[in-house]
Amino acid sequence: MHYVILRDDDTNALTPVECLEQLYRPFLDRGFPVNLAVIPYVRTDTISTNGTLEGFLFAKHVDTPLELPIGGSAELVNYLDGNPGFHVLQHGCDHSLFEFGSDQRDDIANRLDQGAASLAAAGFRAPHTFVAPYDRFSRVSLSEVAKRFPIISSGWFELRRLPFAWWPQYAMKKMLKRPHWQVGPTTLLTHPGCLLSFQRPYPTMLESVKQQIKSRRLTVLVTHWWEYFRDDKPDTAMVGILHATAEWLAGNPHVRVISFDDLTRAHVVPDQRNEDARAANGRLQRKPSLGGCVARKPTD
Ligand SMILES: [Zn+2]
Repeated sequence: MHYVILRDDDTNALTPVECLEQLYRPFLDRGFPVNLAVIPYVRTDTISTNGTLEGFLFAKHVDTPLELPIGGSAELVNYLDGNPGFHVLQHGCDHSLFEFGSDQRDDIANRLDQGAASLAAAGFRAPHTFVAPYDRFSRVSLSEVAKRFPIISSGWFELRRLPFAWWPQYAMKKMLKRPHWQVGPTTLLTHPGCLLSFQRPYPTMLESVKQQIKSRRLTVLVTHWWEYFRDDKPDTAMVGILHATAEWLAGNPHVRVISFDDLTRAHVVPDQRNEDARAANGRLQRKPSLGGCVARKPTD
């Protein structure tokens, strides 16, 4: 069985509900969980790495405040409440550039706490999964996030940004060529880049998604809702590829779409810690491409 977790980043108080509805109705209607990495307290002047206003702020207008809590959009909160197929993850705090790249422990802790408080104030349950804006962590921010979240989802992890105590587990992950790994109670997941993106060639996008899913046990499939609505109109070709992905997932008996929270249920993804130990002690017989998520036991 291959498992897929769909992650959509950058939902914030300025996200029009129509966008999420248009993109994800085919997923929700099929019972597929849609994991939204939500910006709890968005800075509406956030400049992206290419020097322009972030795409997820396209609905900003002249009167938009500098900061907006997610609860500031009652329409969005009500919509998410009314569609339990959406699962909320914490995506930083205000999503300013590299906000979790800092080594200032107080600043990092404040951002984590303020973000959590903003989600709670909007009525969301405390998320179990954290996603850093721009995938940028520091040694300090990773250790602080791990104190608060059992699951961290990122594009990649770099040795120089890891707490020193994590280095042995990271070395094992690299040796076994595992996309996902475990440090104590923390599950760390990587993803194979943003496969569903306007920056990828459209004719091969769906095939690339299929190949990646088939190549490993658990794939985190990342996309960004605002990429489908550039230039004030839906990119119907790209929306079509997303919906074709939903159709392919539904028609494939060897693929199961799950949420991050499902990882905490051992029966969804088998616990592979024993397999890891056997592989490490033995002849490393398991194919590296199997990857595999290290599931957390329900009691963790
Ligand atoms: Zn983001």
